[in-house]
Amino acid sequence: MKVLIAGAGIAGSTLAQALAQMGIDYQVIEQADAFREVGAGIQLSPNGVRILDRLGLSDGLAAVSTEPDFHKYSVWDSGETVLKTPLKPMVRETYGFPYYHAHRADLIELLTQNLDRSRVMMNEKIVTVDQDSGGVAVTCESGNSYKGDVLIGADGIHSVVREQFFRPDPPRPSGYVTWRGVVDADAIAHLDIPVSAYVDMGPRLSFVYYYVSGGKRLNWLALGQTNDPKRESWNQTATREEIIDAFEGWYERPKAVISATPEVFVTSLHDREPLASWVSERVALMGDAAHAMLPYHAQGAVQSLEDAWVLARCLQGMNATDALKHYESLRFDRANLMVQQSRNAEGWYHVDTPEEIESRNERFRKTNARLAGGFSPQQHWLYSYDAEKAAAGTDHEWQALCPWA
Ligand SMILES: Cc1cc2nc3c(=O)[nH]c(=O)nc-3n(C[C@H](O)[C@H](O)[C@H](O)COP(=O)(O)OP(=O)(O)OC[C@H]3O[C@@H](n4cnc5c(N)ncnc54)[C@H](O)[C@@H]3O)c2cc1C
Repeated sequence: MKVLIAGAGIAGSTLAQALAQMGIDYQVIEQADAFREVGAGIQLSPNGVRILDRLGLSDGLAAVSTEPDFHKYSVWDSGETVLKTPLKPMVRETYGFPYYHAHRADLIELLTQNLDRSRVMMNEKIVTVDQDSGGVAVTCESGNSYKGDVLIGADGIHSVVREQFFRPDPPRPSGYVTWRGVVDADAIAHLDIPVSAYVDMGPRLSFVYYYVSGGKRLNWLALGQTNDPKRESWNQTATREEIIDAFEGWYERPKAVISATPEVFVTSLHDREPLASWVSERVALMGDAAHAMLPYHAQGAVQSLEDAWVLARCLQGMNATDALKHYESLRFDRANLMVQQSRNAEGWYHVDTPEEIESRNERFRKTNARLAGGFSPQQHWLYSYDAEKAAAGTDHEWQALCPWA
């Protein structure tokens, strides 16, 4: 069987790695002229790290990651931590794999460095996709076309494959934006920020930050609203002033981090309405093409890793069309649940009035007392997922653990 993969982002590259490991023929078609990820951080929960380990990337990943001690939610003006859940070493001890923070460029380098380049067609933008009972074919802007037995659309939130075979609705703007930046750890050493995952929550604005690149840099996101219309783009620049103004009245740390950051970017935040299906005969979607989600639970890329492993295993054991249907049946509910949960989280990230803020803080304090230093139910069903068992049809544990599944 030959698998065509549209796109070499985190989803497509992981699928290529998994297929290579399982001895399945594949060809990747990528519009960019080089493997590239944006200059930003990424959180990798153990359900994703487990898959990177299966791909033999554990040592390389450990070398470029940081392993945070806690997940801390704090109050915007006082800095009081209202909820603290454990990460290192309890995640590793409980789920077998760590929770990591990494730089995206390091992750894509790891995922692509040993791919067979003769199977990766760069600088090839897919414009049309066809299928019949014998196979699939994609045609690129260059005029070149490629044929295979199945096509996997791993071509991101603006997926051409999705548009052609599924539903041509545009990405859904959430009404929020995120400013973001990466700053050298040396430039903020005086702030003495321990290695944890932080969310500082204020009126209509939240500040998320964590170390990447083995602790050499700190990545931050400021999630909020702006009157200036912003595009959905990883490359749109912003001024430090426009974002620092939004932190008027906050405790010092966010402003100090932003002030030390050389370059600030901004993007509007979008997700997609869930589809009725990700599969049309010999064509299937994965990653953001299938289930683009808001970033509040940091699961978009991790769900792509899960997709990749399950899909590769299905393709290994079945004929093309059965494999795609089986993949969908195993992955659909879980990924769409994360789309919904990520939308739900948006509400508590952006509350506005002093009463609403105090009520959120109180809810977090109560959760903190209830968890008593342990994991939340959501962490449990997310982190315990084993894609290998899921592909074998023997991991229904996450559904049993998840009250919403
Ligand atoms: C602010 C923010 C923070 C986030 N933080 C996290 C986090 O901490 N943890 C996490 O797990 N997730 C996070 N996510 C989500 C994560 O970034 C995405 O889910 C993930 O990058 C999706 O990967 P992908 O490979 O599906 O898509 P993409 O990364 O978009 O890759 C698609 C690839 O397809 C190529 N392509 C597109 N169209 C074509 C075409 N026509 N022909 C050929 N090639 C094509 C593109 O060039 C690209 O290489 C975050 C998202 C945002 C917006």
